[in-house]
Amino acid sequence: MPVLTRLIPSPVVVDIRAGALDDLAGVLADQRISASGKLAVAISGGSGAALRERLAPALPGASWYEVGGGTLDDAIKLADAMKSGHYDAVVGLGGGKIIDCAKFAAARIGLPLVAVATNLSHDGLCSPVATLDNDAGRGSYGVPNPIAVVIDLDIIREAPVRFVRSGIGDALSNISAVADWELANREKGEQIDGLAAAIARQAGEAVLRHPGGVGDDGFLTVLAEGLVLTGISMSVAGDSRPASGACHEINHAFDILHPKRAASHGEQCGLGAAFAMHLRGAHEESALMAACLRRHGLPVLPEEIGFSADEFVEVVAYAPQTRPGRYTILEHLDLSNDQIRDAYADYAKAIAS
Ligand SMILES: [Zn+2]
Repeated sequence: MPVLTRLIPSPVVVDIRAGALDDLAGVLADQRISASGKLAVAISGGSGAALRERLAPALPGASWYEVGGGTLDDAIKLADAMKSGHYDAVVGLGGGKIIDCAKFAAARIGLPLVAVATNLSHDGLCSPVATLDNDAGRGSYGVPNPIAVVIDLDIIREAPVRFVRSGIGDALSNISAVADWELANREKGEQIDGLAAAIARQAGEAVLRHPGGVGDDGFLTVLAEGLVLTGISMSVAGDSRPASGACHEINHAFDILHPKRAASHGEQCGLGAAFAMHLRGAHEESALMAACLRRHGLPVLPEEIGFSADEFVEVVAYAPQTRPGRYTILEHLDLSNDQIRDAYADYAKAIAS
């Protein structure tokens, strides 16, 4: 019988639980990752020191590299520093910037990457994309998926709660992004990958409907798994489509028009998603999403992150330019500024509690 299935690039180990860091050495010693124990570990200069102190005794063959920042130059410098070390794998141990730098550096020197995430601020921890600042602003670089992902919920809880909140907004925005993909499929004949859409949407729905809060292991597990699965949905699709639609265009527009005042990625994506759901006429889903964002302490109105309604109208009007070629509800409706203003007033009224 023919095997008519496909293989999906995915990590060989996913370890998400409280205390996972205590078993990191065991995970890394897996024959498929590093039988010899020769590892290059990328950490931050600041909070990385404590983690290094804690983990170094269990990883005697590891070399430790401090990452300067989150730029393309930092990632290239990291790759240059690591390239002559004859390592089995690169370990990115830290937040989004560290993991993105480590992902890029590992890809550049042809080594697998182990992502050890210390916060849950976005869905990049297991995605095939490294986001790095370059001379032109911010770039997305295609890289292989991590070979292993380790998330210790005890460490996640130690990070400021705004990181968990950001991850919530990013996960919820999948629901709107998939709706945009379906719209592009209906209106423009864009090919949709049903498996990628299913994975991304279920990750968002699980976070949307979980009754727990940011301090519970149960909720944090669902959120962390949702963010990992979102990364895999991008590998399945071959791009960020399942997790990035109008929600992310609005987020990018905030970043570009107001680089100094922009809020976190997930705050902007969550707000953008709730508004985009309203725009597409999914008023019940929009209200449900807004209630979930509110319950977890995320903004649902631009005023809550310091932007006036007029500024938000400008942001939404600018948003389609941030991602040329991506068809979403914003490109579909092609609203004038006055129409955006009316839609926003309608949205604010609809979600008012
Ligand atoms: Zn995102």
